Amino acid sequence: GKRQGETISKGHRNYELMLNLQLGIRHSVGRPAPATGFDLKASAFDPKEKIWTRFPPEGSKYTPPHQSCEFRWKDYCPVVFRTLRKLFKVDPADYMISICGNDALRELSSPGKSGSFFYLTNDDRYMIKTMKKSETKVFLRMLSAYYNHCRSFDNTLVIKYYGLHCVKLTGPAQKKVRFIIMGNLLRSDYTIHRRFDLKGSSLGRITDKAESEIDNTTILKDLDLNFIFKLQKSWFQEFCWQIDRDCEFLEQERTMDYSLLVGLHFREISPNGELLPCEIRNSQNDATHRTDMDQLLQDPKSWASIKLGTNMPARVERTVRKPELELQLVGERTGECYEVVMFFGIIDILQDYDITKKLEHAYKSIQYDPTSISAVDPKQYSKRFRDFIFKVFAEDI
Ligand code: ATP
Ligand code: CA
Ligand code: CA
Repeated sequence: GKRQGETISKGHRNYELMLNLQLGIRHSVGRPAPATGFDLKASAFDPKEKIWTRFPPEGSKYTPPHQSCEFRWKDYCPVVFRTLRKLFKVDPADYMISICGNDALRELSSPGKSGSFFYLTNDDRYMIKTMKKSETKVFLRMLSAYYNHCRSFDNTLVIKYYGLHCVKLTGPAQKKVRFIIMGNLLRSDYTIHRRFDLKGSSLGRITDKAESEIDNTTILKDLDLNFIFKLQKSWFQEFCWQIDRDCEFLEQERTMDYSLLVGLHFREISPNGELLPCEIRNSQNDATHRTDMDQLLQDPKSWASIKLGTNMPARVERTVRKPELELQLVGERTGECYEVVMFFGIIDILQDYDITKKLEHAYKSIQYDPTSISAVDPKQYSKRFRDFIFKVFAEDI
């Protein structure tokens, strides 16, 4: 498949920032730290502790010499994130190699509307996103609840966050850049053929690409969705239960605007990239181009080791929208099914329902049906999100 992003090499406008980030992470993760259990003290969550490490190019007692500009570095709640990484079973050395290894990070061309920059590590395991100050605040406010949620629910679909950092450039501007490090939900050895970012709202929820431009990297939205996702019974039940727990948590934390990101690998693709439904494959009796995933998939016992949301064998059924129902979110089923491997999780959870969103809501609802727009209060948001999710996911029978 097509590799996402632009490699950040020398001369790239964010080259120095990337070096700073890598130096900072190496410093934070490589530093010897006392072993801690999973019961953290309340003080670990206190963001007021302000320790800035200075990184002069010539090096210091605590930092190595480097080729970048002078900067300062701050870790937010380092004990909490170190413990989260342990909870998520990330080995510190591997983590450092993924982010700070010689192979550069890749910058994605702004996938969201918020203005954040996104970077992918070379091994595709981690995604780094620049954060607004307000998002950082929201995250610090909810950090202990997030920590407890991840600890309580091993199968949570809420995105895994591994670290929160700030780089302060010295010089007159004193510009601050905040980064969050998260798991790449769609990392897979299998090509992701379709990606959907789903919220359950209709306004503006359609890609601006023409049909012919849609490819593996296009981020499709609610109104582009032309499938129903069918999970095997026990997974479906677990999925519904977990979505409820996760939405309760997000509602309690008064956040909104999150989405369910879904990635699909189609197991049958014609040489020119067409998705082949199950019946067509059977009628052609041609199984030669099936992937080695089959070994895994043929043995249902190995399914037990699959974690909710990653590498899930499933089927999707094609749906069609009635053209006269322009804002209909879920189309009619057609009976045409495809075998896929699915990936999904809840992303972009750090927008709180603050005054700007209230204003946006008030202003937009003058022109539109208020329930169709993205900014509604957290309770309404979570309800609409769940209602939608439970319509587009179904039990496979
Ligand atoms: P907006 O607020 O306008 O939605 P944003 O800048 O906050 O935009 P996100 O929604 O966080 O951006 O992400 C934009 C896109 O990047 C997502 O639709 C998804 O395709 C991709 N993306 C974000 N986070 C992840 C992740 N953890 N794993 C894989 N892909 C991701
Ligand atoms: Ca988003
Ligand atoms: Ca956002």
